[in-house]
Amino acid sequence: MPEFCDVALPVPLDMVFTYRVPADVAPIVGGRVLVPFRQQRMTGIVVELHDRIPSVTTKNIISVLDGVPVLDELLLRLARWIADYYLAPLGEVCRTMLPLMAEFKRTIGYRITDHGQSALHLAGMSGSSARSQRTPEEQMLEFQVLDYMAGSDGDLVRDQTLRSATKVPRRILEGMVRKKWLSREDISAPQDAKRTIKVALLKSVEGKLNDNQRTLVEALASSGSKLPVDALQALDVPRSTLGTLVRRGLVEIVEQAAEFAVSRAKARPSPFDFDFTDAQKHALKTLCEAVEARQFSGMLLHGVTGSGKTAVYLAVMRAVLDAGRSAILLVPEIGLTPAVAADLHQIFGDEVAILHSALSDRERAEQWHRIKRRDARIVVGTRSAVFAPVDDLALLIVDEEHDSSYKQEKTPRYHARDIAVMRAKMSNAVVVLGSATPSLESYFNAKKNKYALIEIPDRVENRPLPEVEIVDMRMEFQETGHEQVISRKLSHEIAARLERREQVMVLLNRRGYSPVVLCRTCGKKLECSNCAIALTHHKREHKMVCHYCGYTAPVPKSCVHCGSEYVYFLGTGSEKLEELLHGMFPQARIARLDRDTVRGHQDFERTLSALNEGELDLLVGTQMIAKGHDIHGVTLVGVVGADVALGLPDFRAAERTFQLLTQVAGRAGRGQSPGKVILQTYFQDHYAVQFAAQHDFIGFYEKELQFRSWMHYPPYSALANVLVRGDQLDEVLEWSGLLGQWFNQTRHETVRVLGPAAAPIMRLKRDYRYHFILRSPSREKLNTTLRAMLAYAAQHKIPRTQLIVDMDALWLM
Ligand SMILES: [Zn+2]
Ligand SMILES: [Zn+2]
Repeated sequence: MPEFCDVALPVPLDMVFTYRVPADVAPIVGGRVLVPFRQQRMTGIVVELHDRIPSVTTKNIISVLDGVPVLDELLLRLARWIADYYLAPLGEVCRTMLPLMAEFKRTIGYRITDHGQSALHLAGMSGSSARSQRTPEEQMLEFQVLDYMAGSDGDLVRDQTLRSATKVPRRILEGMVRKKWLSREDISAPQDAKRTIKVALLKSVEGKLNDNQRTLVEALASSGSKLPVDALQALDVPRSTLGTLVRRGLVEIVEQAAEFAVSRAKARPSPFDFDFTDAQKHALKTLCEAVEARQFSGMLLHGVTGSGKTAVYLAVMRAVLDAGRSAILLVPEIGLTPAVAADLHQIFGDEVAILHSALSDRERAEQWHRIKRRDARIVVGTRSAVFAPVDDLALLIVDEEHDSSYKQEKTPRYHARDIAVMRAKMSNAVVVLGSATPSLESYFNAKKNKYALIEIPDRVENRPLPEVEIVDMRMEFQETGHEQVISRKLSHEIAARLERREQVMVLLNRRGYSPVVLCRTCGKKLECSNCAIALTHHKREHKMVCHYCGYTAPVPKSCVHCGSEYVYFLGTGSEKLEELLHGMFPQARIARLDRDTVRGHQDFERTLSALNEGELDLLVGTQMIAKGHDIHGVTLVGVVGADVALGLPDFRAAERTFQLLTQVAGRAGRGQSPGKVILQTYFQDHYAVQFAAQHDFIGFYEKELQFRSWMHYPPYSALANVLVRGDQLDEVLEWSGLLGQWFNQTRHETVRVLGPAAAPIMRLKRDYRYHFILRSPSREKLNTTLRAMLAYAAQHKIPRTQLIVDMDALWLM
């Protein structure tokens, strides 16, 4: 066994740490070890075993946690690539890739030593030791601990147990360990991660049933003869009914590994139930052939909204599973509802692992082990599912590849789409990026033949794309003489749909009641005390809320700056829109979907399934309503103020607006009746609005590409945002000044540096923020410059945590 090992630890330092390997342990590369780090113990990943003698003294590994690698050779290579590309510490990358933290909650135990026994004995005889430098209180606490430990017969006592029994602070225990009265042991160990739930299985439907019994039996029958007992007990039936059915042998209750709760909604038609269009068949054939070739290829699947991309994904994944290989499907955060999970279980049975954001750490670890054991070969999940430890990976699909939830906004700031492409390359697998509104970067790559382009230009069953009508809100103002939220045209169209018993969605991408509170006397806004951001009025909760940090304040009766009573609540958020629509259409059944009404997947699912079942007439919401839902009864989509983003100082504003408008328009007319979209805007001449109205992705793409080319923005150059932050303004100014000087004085071939400048949101979560924007046609040169900057910053003691390097930043605010 080599004498040393290098370990990647999850700390914000761009280095690995060398430890000595004691004779009795055998660490492996890619496996976890427990090591001492400063005053703590930490788990890290072994990245190398070697015999090179380090220049500093090394400590021993405490224990080895894995007999097989948790990161195999390929994933470890991917980790190194991510650390290099995103300038992130390798240990933090490894931590992100492994959802196993829950398994190794650090647990410490104490044992009383012989030394401790005699100290207790002495203390009992003499009361206290005269030579002691400790206060009487400290001696008292120590005595309590020794007394408690003596009762444990030399057994190990957990840190938590000891401290809750004696109320002794940790520093006292540490002092006693130093005096060798107590020995401390690390008892961190894998927790038994299995968690089970009770599930009811329908065995038979024979014999007479009363109403309550029938309700349960029907609920079971309509969801594939299987439902969690919790779900049945939520039905309006006496609790004893289930027991009766069990006694009669009609229902059996079994314990099962807890999985993502399967939907209570009625089973939906299988995605394979309809005939594929020629374009779908062509896409499927192309993908299957690429998978069979067993070498890397990248594809961009550009299909209009409602063109049946998901059915193609599922069919090719089924083919991969039948061949005994593995596939990963990435979906945006909001895409994984229980109904989708139910569909997936129906198609892939127990061979699918579903990784969504509502999983607890423990559930996530469970799923990880299922995948690692090869019990699940199909993985469907949000961003971090790209790291799933599947074996023999054949296919990676990124659905809605343009979605910004694929970018992680903390270290490592990776983009799951780009990781998917790199992982596919390393694994000789196929990667498919799918979208109705591909990101400029991906479409650009397809046009340059880096990806094969597959188009699905029509909706399934020849359904037409919805007609889009633009309403110019400046004209509306001139003609009506006041600011309207809902134009006359939209109001008229909504009324017509409600009359015909069709359904309507209205998008307003801003939550809360009023986004701005302004004083007419002094002209100041009410801002968050942690951020330079206006507080939003939330009427139902009766408070002011910061949408960035969650800070809340009471609703002001007078101006907090000057005391004037002339405070005005301006603008409209989704809460106010809902109220307005209630007033305009009192007979309509209206619901709202935004982050205030949706606390978990259940809420989201409940509202969508109510819409699906025709229990709602009108759904109001933020961009949450725009994403991928397939509701057939919606024939009208109204868009209210979706162009707000066009006013923001962000070069991606046009692209985001185009995507949002196209996606929300795509919700209309997915069933038998054709759809219509009313798009209210103050920017009616803007190309993002015009091309979205014409469903013209190519037109938008070409126009936007020109702008990016002139401005040297991606995809024509690589871009990084360097943010300097801190709660002391003078420090932030000093640090950003230092870096600014360095950028000025050092030559960086081809790299353009803008800044330092105050970030558009200059204060956020109590931090002051200054930033630099770096652009270069050469990724490599940009990377080299950033590395040199980090080294310079470290020399000048700028704390690494106060300096954020965001490669391929999506968000420059
Ligand atoms: Zn005022
Ligand atoms: Zn705030």
